[in-house]
Amino acid sequence: MMTAIDLDDTRAAAALVEEPVLRLSRVERRYSEGDRFLEVLKAADLEIRAGETVALVAPSGAGKSTLLHLAGLLEAPDGGEVYLGGVATGALSDAERTRMRRLEIGFVYQFHHLLPEFTALENVMLPQMIRGLGRKEAIKRAEQLLAYMRLEERMQHLPSEMSGGEQQRVAIARAVANVPRLILADEPTGNLDPKTAHYVFDALQALVRSSGLAALIATHNMELADRMDRRITLIDGKIVESA
Ligand code: ADP
Ligand code: MG
Repeated sequence: MMTAIDLDDTRAAAALVEEPVLRLSRVERRYSEGDRFLEVLKAADLEIRAGETVALVAPSGAGKSTLLHLAGLLEAPDGGEVYLGGVATGALSDAERTRMRRLEIGFVYQFHHLLPEFTALENVMLPQMIRGLGRKEAIKRAEQLLAYMRLEERMQHLPSEMSGGEQQRVAIARAVANVPRLILADEPTGNLDPKTAHYVFDALQALVRSSGLAALIATHNMELADRMDRRITLIDGKIVESA
C-alpha cells in the first residue's frame, strides 16, 4: 500500500542528517614551551550548524584565537579532525585548504585589517575579484552589503576617513562578500566603545541570520553573547556548552 509522504517531515529529517557547517572532533593543539608543552586544546569537540550563531566566551589565554585559527584552516591541529561541511580537512593539500578557506569562510578580527589605500567599496570588492567575479558584479554586491551595513555615505572613503565602528562594519561586509558558509570573528567589537559595539554586533547578527550563515564569535561581552543562539567556553582545553 502506498503511504503519503509528509514533505515537511522529509525536510525535517533531511535537515537532521545534514552535516554541520563546522565540526571539530577530538581536536588537539599544543605549543612547546621550552622543555614542556602547553596544551591549549585537548580532545575538543564542537558542532555548528547552518544558521546558528555561537558565542565563544573564555578568559584571555584560554585558547579562543587558537580555536578560531583551527576552525578557519589557518593552523592545523596536532590531533583530531576539523570538518567543514562534512569534509575532513586534515588530508587536504595546502592549495585545497586555501581554496576552501577563501570560498567557505569569512573572518572578522578585532582590528579591521582593511587595506588602507583602498576605499570601503574596493575593500569589499577585492575578495570577490580574487575569487574571479567580474568587476561589475563585485561592485554591485559590495554596494548592497555596504548599504545593508548602513554605509551608503561611506563607500568612497578610505579606512582612515572612517570611525572605528564604520571600519568594523566594512570589515564585516568584506567577510561575507564571497558568500561563505561560516563566519569566524575574534573579538570583533573588542576595540569599540559599548554603544558602537552594540550597533556593530547587531549589524553582524542581522547579516548572519538573514543569510543563513553559521557564525562562531569570540567575545568578552556577556551582554552580546547572551543574544546569540548558543554560548560555549573553554575549560581545561575542552569546549563546554555554557548557560
Ligand atoms: P585567547 O585568544 O583565548 O586569549 P590564544 O588562543 O591566543 O588565547 O592562546 C592560548 C594559549 O596559547 C596562550 O597561553 C598563548 O600564550 C598560547 N599560544 C598561542 N599561540 C601560540 C604560539 N604560536 N606559540 C606558543 N604559544 C602560543
Ligand atoms: Mg585571542
